[in-house]
Amino acid sequence: DKKTVIITGASSGLGLAAAKELAATGDWYVIMACRDFQKAEKAAKEAGMFEDSYEVLHCDLASNRSVRHFVDAFHALGRPLDALVCNAAVYFPNAHKPGIFLPGLFAGEGPRYSADGHELSFAANYLGHFLLCKLLLEDLKRSTVKPARCIILGTVTATVNGAELGGMIPPIAHVGNFEGLEKGMKAPVSMLDAHEFNGAKAYKDSKVCDVMLMKELHRRYHNETGIVFTSLYPGCIAETGLFREHYPLFQHLFPAFHKSVTKAYVSQEEAGKRLAACVSDERYATSGSYYSWGGEAGTGGSGGKDAVENKDKELDWFMNYGSFRTLSIDEIGGEAADDARCRKLWDLSERLVQAS
Ligand code: NDP
Repeated sequence: DKKTVIITGASSGLGLAAAKELAATGDWYVIMACRDFQKAEKAAKEAGMFEDSYEVLHCDLASNRSVRHFVDAFHALGRPLDALVCNAAVYFPNAHKPGIFLPGLFAGEGPRYSADGHELSFAANYLGHFLLCKLLLEDLKRSTVKPARCIILGTVTATVNGAELGGMIPPIAHVGNFEGLEKGMKAPVSMLDAHEFNGAKAYKDSKVCDVMLMKELHRRYHNETGIVFTSLYPGCIAETGLFREHYPLFQHLFPAFHKSVTKAYVSQEEAGKRLAACVSDERYATSGSYYSWGGEAGTGGSGGKDAVENKDKELDWFMNYGSFRTLSIDEIGGEAADDARCRKLWDLSERLVQAS
């Protein structure tokens, strides 16, 4: 029998590439947890996925009710769950407090909110996944595949904030002491640190939360259940839909910049192999780890086959941006290093999902 993996946001970019990669092995049945049925079906067909290798189930992570319905629909299939990939995300790079940048030229746009009223990047990228992980934990526990895995997408800023190139580009992630979260993350509050809204920072903050979630899941459940919780940075996949709201000029120049200057560029196909390796390759099965890939050329290789560990270059931030590293749970840096804050995030998140 095939193993079953759920991938959120599998209708485009990295999620689709990993779904395709895993389905093609013949070993995995992929549940594509997506908010747009039509788009997901079309994407799967265009990617050449065989009909008996996947199923699209509706899941809008920006609605706690939708996440609950998704879990019910998954249970109704009667399948086991062997791996869960929390991949979906939104990014609003041009959304600032209205008028903060040259009004008219860069028309500022205020925050958007989820069905439950929480700031949308926080809700879709993190809170929906928090609820999903909680609701599916028992299924992962019951998996006969050892180890069952839960993989949560991070990004450079989430672990190395301010310490290497990717983490130095403003606005820098800052969740603070979750002052905004304590207030409920509902309008007029829009940022975790309760500061003024900035869409690019909201994305980075949500990714810090994703890595904190991985750490907290590991701390709470790994020893007891054997489930492996990991996070990763797949390299800079500069051409995905993540950048769909960025200025056209940026969308045009961004891939070339990462191909030629930072060397962090990675194709969707290669990034999909990296994520698929986190799901099924035994080399990426140390719970609590954060796997950080670099660019396409030789640094990390397909699924890390030629993985080059590069810890010696810890201080060489420019080089590090383009090389593969594994950070053990104790090496994860930035705000996600703070265990007390990880616990606080968990407790406050529980309150939010209970209330909705
Ligand atoms: P894409 O925009 O291509 O994919 C994001 C996916 O998330 C889409 O399928 C989208 O659905 C889905 N999604 C968004 N909101 C929701 C929601 N409310 N409910 C359900 N699904 C939703 O971006 P990427 O493939 O680049 O991003 C995938 C992951 O990789 C993200 O977690 C991102 O943070 C991470 N990442 C990406 C990097 C990059 O360079 N691109 C670098 C580092 C990390 P729809 O198709 O309907 O819009």
